[in-house]
Amino acid sequence: MGVAMQRWSNWSGSVVAQPRRVVAPRSEDELSTLIMQAQKVRAVGAGHSFTPLCATDDTLISLQDMDVGGVTVALDRRSASVPAGWSLKRLTEVLWALDLSLSNQGDVNPQAVAGAIATGTHGAGAAFGSLSTFVRAARLIGHDGRVVMCSRSQQLEVFEAARLSLGALGVMTRVDISVEPAFYLEERLESVRFEEAKAAYFSWAQTNRHVEFFVFPYGKHAIVKTLNPTDAKADPGRETDMGEGMFRTVCDVCARAPFLTAPLQAMLVPAKMKATRTGPAYRIYPSTRTVRFEEMEYAVPLDAAFPALEAVIAMIKETRAPVTFPFEVRLVAGDDIWLSPFNRGPAVAISMHQYAKMAWRDIFRAAEAIFRDHGGRPHWGKRHSLTHADAEALYPRFGDFCRVRGNLDPLGKFVNPHLAALLECAPSAVAEHLE
Ligand SMILES: Cc1cc2nc3c(=O)[nH]c(=O)nc-3n(C[C@H](O)[C@H](O)[C@H](O)COP(=O)(O)OP(=O)(O)OC[C@H]3O[C@@H](n4cnc5c(N)ncnc54)[C@H](O)[C@@H]3O)c2cc1C
Repeated sequence: MGVAMQRWSNWSGSVVAQPRRVVAPRSEDELSTLIMQAQKVRAVGAGHSFTPLCATDDTLISLQDMDVGGVTVALDRRSASVPAGWSLKRLTEVLWALDLSLSNQGDVNPQAVAGAIATGTHGAGAAFGSLSTFVRAARLIGHDGRVVMCSRSQQLEVFEAARLSLGALGVMTRVDISVEPAFYLEERLESVRFEEAKAAYFSWAQTNRHVEFFVFPYGKHAIVKTLNPTDAKADPGRETDMGEGMFRTVCDVCARAPFLTAPLQAMLVPAKMKATRTGPAYRIYPSTRTVRFEEMEYAVPLDAAFPALEAVIAMIKETRAPVTFPFEVRLVAGDDIWLSPFNRGPAVAISMHQYAKMAWRDIFRAAEAIFRDHGGRPHWGKRHSLTHADAEALYPRFGDFCRVRGNLDPLGKFVNPHLAALLECAPSAVAEHLE
């Protein structure tokens, strides 16, 4: 178990904390002891969240070194019990060796299984919900160091909260998730005019297992990415969808000369671009994202999604804001999870990014107002300024989540200032994280 007083920061560098100790317990017993001894605890996965969910000045716990056994596959091979602290990369490699795949994944795979579940991490697909929808049962260590088990047949309300918990119930050590027989994917990238992408997106979503598109605010063309199962058992050759070399250079130029953003961006997506890649699903879903960015994402109801995106792009153009990254547009299936942005039906997740070396707060604030006006709900791991009252208004079961959480953690051991403001409406219930 490593113990150290050290500076911690998230992937983008925008959240910095000075935990009293950063610990990596090797067993559940060590974890229980640590939780019992600590005043405040936050669990951390890969630190890929942009909101200060993991920030703490007390005890930060990583399960990356924890030995809680490996993957156990159910007899019907439709689910598996897996270590919650493993990265998605490690998990999907092990699943593949067992002839299994996850049904969907997001853009990258360093996230911890528990970290991805805690924020509702998702990919694209009309028939596919977030990773939280894969959860069938969970094992947590609670505030008193005791094991809490939950599933549909055991502590149902705890299960509902644990499926997307913001890490505020306890520390998840193992989780049962749904899996499916291993499959291969063919990835196709193609540039089309933005107008066409908007007009055809929902019909493409009916005919492709996964489809998303990227569009730069100052660009005329979008890059459409589809993923479909294939019988071709090929090796992908490269581990990413798009190269980042030229893009990184453009971002660095724009950071020094923001007025060049619009003209340079217009050239980034060629009118005729096509690329394909085929390989095991677990190698095709994730890509490599090394150009650091800050991100906000809103899930917008289907009929309001493109008007919202158009309004945000119009605002960026009117203010000539130097937004160097593309928007990412993904349809996600509806679910019934208390804190899921998709629990009132399918929605279009619109991600807005900005190069981490450039200003993002003002432009995110302005865009957020537009997304909110269009009925959007934020991704919990990405920048947002929701208050407790906002969340209560947006989520019919938010009060239930707070009640169940309060019963499990009466002294607020798993709550940091960000979560206290959001979940408990503490006096400091201000949206500090966009400040
Ligand atoms: C480059 C990049 C690409 C991304 N792509 C996508 C994408 O395609 N789709 C998408 O939806 N999101 C995406 N995200 C967001 C990211 O998936 C989420 O923020 C996710 O929560 C990060 O996982 P993590 O392991 O880094 O968790 P962290 O950021 O470390 O933690 C997130 C939450 O999980 C909790 N947690 C972690 N471990 C445990 C545990 N063992 N028990 C209980 N709680 C725990 C933490 O306390 C915290 O509340 C991306 C982020 C980046 C930086």
